Amino acid sequence: LLQLYGPLNFLGSVYSGIRTALVDLEHMLSLTEEDVEVADPAAPLPIATRLAGSAPARVAFEDVHFGYRPEREILHGISFAVQPGHKVAIVGSTGAGKSTISRLLFRFYDTWSGSVMVDGHDVRHYRQADLRAAIGVVPQDTVLFNDSIGYNIAYGRLGATPAQVEEAARLAQIHDFIMTLPEGYETQVGERGLKLSGGEKQRVAIARTILKDPRVLVLDEATSALDTHTEKEIQAALKTVSANRTTLVIAHRLSTIVDADEILVMGRGLVVERGTHAQLLAAQGHYAAMWAAQATGEG
Ligand code: ADP
Repeated sequence: LLQLYGPLNFLGSVYSGIRTALVDLEHMLSLTEEDVEVADPAAPLPIATRLAGSAPARVAFEDVHFGYRPEREILHGISFAVQPGHKVAIVGSTGAGKSTISRLLFRFYDTWSGSVMVDGHDVRHYRQADLRAAIGVVPQDTVLFNDSIGYNIAYGRLGATPAQVEEAARLAQIHDFIMTLPEGYETQVGERGLKLSGGEKQRVAIARTILKDPRVLVLDEATSALDTHTEKEIQAALKTVSANRTTLVIAHRLSTIVDADEILVMGRGLVVERGTHAQLLAAQGHYAAMWAAQATGEG
């Protein structure tokens, strides 16, 4: 067993990688081209971290209006709350405004009016770096660095021990796969190394997020279908990472959100329906129609 811990050179690259600081959320959310125009407050509020043992966060949107350009409002008054440790899912057609909500939560932009609240304070009151450290994202498509798979996981928390990296990999159901690789955790991945499948990359992202241990989790579900076995493993890993953690899911497959505390159905920048899965089915509206369509499409 000691051999597993053998050549853990990737820790060296972790330290040399400190320049890149925390997980590059902007890149993950495909915002690298954007000018980020928000400013830190003069007297920022501190934000608690789970590593320091604090409880899950509360997240709320209060009558949020927002557009990317002055002439076009995209969100027309969005309100919802995610209670500490709860899970809220957002569904709706492409262009409805789902990703825009997650970008506002990270404060890549400021709202036109209304507030995005974390722990009872407008996100404008926090330092951006603190806010982004408190929020973890499992994106649709994970960017891997041209480095070892161990480094790619450890990036979630610079300075993590090999045992912590392995524990996160186990919880994310990627450890067994890593052990089949010729060099285990030292195996090079990315464009210049081993190419991982979509499902494997997503589990690396989940392991990273488990290490980061954020108080708020944003899951951006992949639109592309994975095979049933992979899908099951990913769902199990996501359950682990979202347990007892305030979670916002941007969902494409309704089967993954039946247990959500609240489901928001969005259409054209508005919440058009909301409730639990059972309530929304009983309401026989948009959600019930989407559910029926997916059931026949997938069945
Ligand atoms: P969804 O995630 O539900 O598919 P988005 O939040 O990505 O929807 O997009 C909502 C609307 O905002 C769409 O009409 C989209 O074209 C527009 N939009 C998204 N990103 C930008 C941007 N960076 N600049 C201008 N418009 C954008």
